[in-house]
Amino acid sequence: MSTVANKKPHGLLIVLVGPSGVGKSTISKMLAQRLNVAYIVSATTRPKEPGDEIGKEYDHVSQDEFFRRLDRDEFLEYAQVHGNYYGTPMHPALDYLNEGKDVLLEIDVQGALQVRYQYPEALLIFILPPNGPTLMQRLNDRGRDKPEDMDKRFRAARREIHMAKGSRAFDHMVINDSLDRAVEELTKIINLERTGGL
Ligand code: 5GP
Repeated sequence: MSTVANKKPHGLLIVLVGPSGVGKSTISKMLAQRLNVAYIVSATTRPKEPGDEIGKEYDHVSQDEFFRRLDRDEFLEYAQVHGNYYGTPMHPALDYLNEGKDVLLEIDVQGALQVRYQYPEALLIFILPPNGPTLMQRLNDRGRDKPEDMDKRFRAARREIHMAKGSRAFDHMVINDSLDRAVEELTKIINLERTGGL
């Protein structure tokens, strides 16, 4: 049984996953502020888009640069999502963890499964929408995607949810039915894990 006394002197690696439009970025920012966790900026080959300021922060790089970093083994995990590459830079994340600081990653399900494999002690949480129509409405409200892209993201969301449930890799599944409630539930989950699950 894990206890505070035998906990490794490492920070907790928290991985937040969920389909586009589920509210992950807002939740991550609120958690990062509330819980004093380090938030890691991912690299992506996706060009900047209008509305990016309110979403997840990225280091936008060319495909050549992304593959240079990949060749140099600079990513903790990476994946191709909707035709673009995304990767978590290894150094800032591992440096924080080694200093004993908790780290929050906001990534897709393929990346989360890589993290699970490499860091079995990571806390993997999947954020679910309350239902399909609400997710479609949220994608629509973001005003970021063309109608055909929204359909693509909606179908991808269904695949992602299916994959997450089937993988059994996630420690928790949290429904974002109301932002405050979901953040409250996540705060409790993370705080419990910080105390060694006692
Ligand atoms: P968006 O371009 O809409 O911000 O993100 C598209 C998808 O890529 C989302 O599911 C997001 O969580 C995921 N993503 C963002 N950063 C990373 C990353 O560093 N690694 C992986 N595997 N997925 C990421």
